[in-house]
Amino acid sequence: MFVPRLSEAIAALDALWPPGSAEAWDAVGTVCGDPDQEVSRVLFAVDPVQEIVDEAVKLGADLLVTHHPLYLRGTTTVAASTFKGRVVHTLIKNDIALHVAHTNADRADPGVSDALAGALDLRVVRPLVPDPADPEGRRGLGRVCELDPPVTVRELAERAAERLPATAQGIRVAGDPEALVRTVAVSGGSGDSLFADVRAAGVDAFLTADLRHHPASEFMANGAQATRATHTQAAHTQATQATLNPLALLDAAHWATEWPWCELAAAQLDEISDRHGWDLRVHVSKTVTDPWNSHAPSPGAPN
Ligand SMILES: [Zn+2]
Repeated sequence: MFVPRLSEAIAALDALWPPGSAEAWDAVGTVCGDPDQEVSRVLFAVDPVQEIVDEAVKLGADLLVTHHPLYLRGTTTVAASTFKGRVVHTLIKNDIALHVAHTNADRADPGVSDALAGALDLRVVRPLVPDPADPEGRRGLGRVCELDPPVTVRELAERAAERLPATAQGIRVAGDPEALVRTVAVSGGSGDSLFADVRAAGVDAFLTADLRHHPASEFMANGAQATRATHTQAAHTQATQATLNPLALLDAAHWATEWPWCELAAAQLDEISDRHGWDLRVHVSKTVTDPWNSHAPSPGAPN
């Protein structure tokens, strides 16, 4: 057993989530840290915020790995008077490196959406948007999954509420709660840019986060329109069926959809550590960093 250098630990992480596969606008990789420093304790978390950095200090971590970048654009200051600057100061003063795996972890095999599917006991069939650079067709954005046996939209929402870490939001649903779900697309994080791909995949439901009013509203209305056309052609006359979108939307808290990746990533690093004979402890933060921390249900609202 020996304690790896930061450069060795980072090389292992880069092999899991190649930085070159990140989106062009993204900022992945090592934010701070000395390649020669020793790493004996690693903490995984979704957000590089002060609470998480304080947790890393308390834990005695040498490396913090987060999904979200600290800086997405260039900056001219890391003064501790700004919240990001304070994060940088705390990290450096405590000899803690920060490393980010964002869209490269989304696209990886296994990636963020595999972890989400795993948390919900869904069988992954293929990526929702396959990476054209992957001849095996396993990498890419989102995942298309099967449910065997099928469950209703309501049951799937209840399962997500139960299995994902608890947040004030819980799960919001658009669509018929009693409709059966045999296939579902999942995408950790903000998923409303994937609506066209979800529609093309022909799934029964889409589970993601951060769905906004207009894209969601238009998506549901377009689906209802398409269903009405199909039903008219097939001479179906049941008005209720004809106007419901066959595809349901399930919206969870952004943080909750990405948190399962931390556990997956920690298990992957643990396995690598065992293989190399590293003396490394790997931890996952359970601190809820979803910014929405309370919820007042409307009296009389459907649940
Ligand atoms: Zn995210």
